[in-house]
Amino acid sequence: MIGKKGRDNMLPGKVAIVTGGTRGIGFAIVKKFLDNGAKVVFFGTKEETVQRALIKLKQENPVYEVMGMYPDITNMREVEKAFAEVFNRYGKIDIVVNNAGISANTSLYNYTEEEFENIIDLNLKALFNCSKVGASYMKQTGGGVILNTSSMVSIYGQSIGCGYPASKFAVNGLTKSLARELGRDHIRVNAVAPGVIRTDMVASLSEEMIKPVVASIPIGRMGEPDDVANAFLFLASDMASFITGAILSVDGAGMC
Ligand code: NAD
Repeated sequence: MIGKKGRDNMLPGKVAIVTGGTRGIGFAIVKKFLDNGAKVVFFGTKEETVQRALIKLKQENPVYEVMGMYPDITNMREVEKAFAEVFNRYGKIDIVVNNAGISANTSLYNYTEEEFENIIDLNLKALFNCSKVGASYMKQTGGGVILNTSSMVSIYGQSIGCGYPASKFAVNGLTKSLARELGRDHIRVNAVAPGVIRTDMVASLSEEMIKPVVASIPIGRMGEPDDVANAFLFLASDMASFITGAILSVDGAGMC
C-alpha cells in the first residue's frame, strides 16, 4: 500500500512547492508527495479553496507536513514573496511542480485577446516565474527538480481552442531548454504530458468533445489523477537522477 504514514519513502525530507494543488492532478501530486515523506507547500487561487484542501489532507493524515498559500503566480513579485516565505521556513526548496493551468474551448473566430493572454499568463508565464525563482534557491543549496504539467495536446495540437495547446507546446520548449541550461547547477527539469484525466478541467468540456477521445484510448479508460501523480513522484525522486529534458506521456497511448 502507498504509505499513508510515509512507508513508501521516495522523497524523504524533501521540500516541495506544487502550484494548482487544491484539486485534480495537483491535489493528487500533493498527497502522493506527502505520502512519500516530503514537506509540501501547495498554491491555489483563493483562501477558501486552499483551506478546503488543507482540511481534506489533515483528515486523511493529521501528521502530514503541509501548508497552503494563494499568491498570484502570474505576478513575479508575489512569487518571490511566497517562495521566500517557504525558504525561510524550511531552509531549502528541493522540488517545484508547475501544475496550475487553465484551458478554453473557444474557436479562433471567437477567441478574445484577453482570453488568449489569460491562458498564456497562467500556463506559461507563471511557470517561468516559479522556475526562475525556484531555480535560484535550488542553485544556492546544491540542486533540485523542476517538473511541469504539459499535455497530450503539446504533441498533437487540438482541433479547437488554440491558446491551450500553444501554451503547452511552449511548456515543452521551456522544459527542454531549462534542462539544458540548469543541468550544470544539478537542477533537473522534466514535464509530464497527461492525456484525458478525470478532473474538473475535463468535466467542463462537452460530452461531444470527450466521448470520441475516450473511446479511442487503447488502454480502454480515462486516466485518474493518481496515474499522473505516480509519474511526478518518479521524476521527482532520485530514481530519475539521470533523466532531464524529458516529456513523459501519461495518456494510455491515446491521441487527441
Ligand atoms: P483542475 O481545473 O482540476 O485544476 C486546476 C488547478 O489550477 C487548480 O488547483 C486551480 O486552483 C489552479 N488554477 C486555476 N486557475 C489558476 C490561477 N489563475 N492561478 C493559480 N492557480 C490556478 O485541472 P487539472 O485537470 O487538475 O489540471 C492540472 C494541470 O493538468 C493543468 O496544467 C492542465 O493543463 C493539465 N492537464 C490536464 C488534463 C486533464 O485531462 N485533466 C490533461 C492534460 C493536462
